[in-house]
Order: sequence, then C-alpha cells, then structure tokens
Amino acid sequence: MKLILLGAPGAGKGTQAEIISEKYGIPTISTGNIIRAALKEGTEMGLRAKAYTDKGELVPDDVVIGIIRERLGADDCKNGFILDGFPRTIPQAEALDKMGIAVDAALSIEVDDGEIVNRMSGRRVCPACGASFHTEYKKPAKEGVCDACGEDIVIRKDDEPETVLNRLKVYHDQTEPLKSFYKAKGKLIEVEGQDKVADTTALVLKALSVI
Ligand code: AMP
Repeated sequence: MKLILLGAPGAGKGTQAEIISEKYGIPTISTGNIIRAALKEGTEMGLRAKAYTDKGELVPDDVVIGIIRERLGADDCKNGFILDGFPRTIPQAEALDKMGIAVDAALSIEVDDGEIVNRMSGRRVCPACGASFHTEYKKPAKEGVCDACGEDIVIRKDDEPETVLNRLKVYHDQTEPLKSFYKAKGKLIEVEGQDKVADTTALVLKALSVI
C-alpha cells in the first residue's frame, strides 16, 4: 500500500501512521522527522531548514522533494509506505507523480482549527526517535518519558502557540488544495478525527480496508 496522510498539523497523522505502519508492515516516512533529525545532527540541510521550521513556514519544495526521492528509493519501501507530511504543496504532489509513484489513497484526517490549537498545547515528542505523545490523549506509560526509547519527551519548538497559528494558515493556504488534487484522481478519503486515538484508528482502518 502506498498511502499519503493529509490533515492539519496536530490532526493525528503521525499517531495513525505509527499504527497503520505496524498493521501493514510498511515504513512511515515523515519529512518533519527527517528534517528534525538533520537539524539535531547539524547537517547542511538541517541548518537550511531551521529558518523555516522555527517560524512554521514550509521548507522549500526542492529540499523536501530531494529528501523523499532518496528515501523512497530505499529497499524497505518496495512493498509500500506511508507518507506523513509529504506532499504539502501541489508542486510536491506533482513531483511524486513525475517520480512515477501512483499512490493508492490520500487519507485526510479532518479536525477543526479550534480543536487543533487545543491539541497542540498538549503535544510532546521524543527528540531521539520522533515518537509522539499527548498529555491527555496519548500519555506515555511513564510521565515525561518516551515509551519506545526511554528518552525524556519535550515540547516541539514549533508547537508554541503563535507558531501553531501560522502553521494552520500555511496548511489552509498551501496544503489543503491537495484534497482537490487527489479528489480529482479519485484517491481522496476523508475521515473525521475523533477525541480518542482508538476511535480515529477504527475509522481509518475501515476506510483503508476497502482500497
Ligand atoms: P511536521 O512534523 O510534519 O509538522 O513538520 C514540521 C515542519 O517541517 C513543518 O512545519 C515544515 O517547516 C517542515 N516540513 C515538513 N514536511 C514538509 C514538506 N513536505 N514541505 C515543506 N516543509 C515541510
């Protein structure tokens, strides 16, 4: 299965991607996680991206398209993959088409802006492995500690309230048009994000079972 996850920042794409990934045995490719890892390592790409991510702006298309082209060429993508956070613009989606990649579905998790702002204030991430948690909806087994690797979990710099508002604007302006793009190809599936992770997962898996 080749799947794209769409939805506002904080809609739950990363969380659902982890679950789908395990169930279908395919990797999740998160451009956000790849960029954060590059930033942490201090690579040239990471430093170039920092100016954009800090403000909640999108990193230039050529940078993320390069990341995705390289990553999708890896062996573990042969049986499929989940793209979390890519494409985020129409040119990125067109680049995927030009790479000859036909996705099975673009699944959009719908959550309204007010709820997104609420959710982002409780979001925590693991700086070491990228796993995501929430103080209310997805608590780690031990408070403040990543379930997967034991590292202390933190608030993402771009989850600060002003940056969240800008990221939402960027989402509506630049990423939401992708819904029409994939709808026109007959690939769009929309799922209403629920308060409980498991309830959203049930809707997501039901939607995926028919493709
Ligand atoms: P995310 O973790 O998906 O919310 O991504 C965090 C940040 O990384 C975004 O706010 C952007 O600055 C950058 N980013 C991630 N994916 C992309 C993409 N496909 N295009 C441009 N910028 C991206």
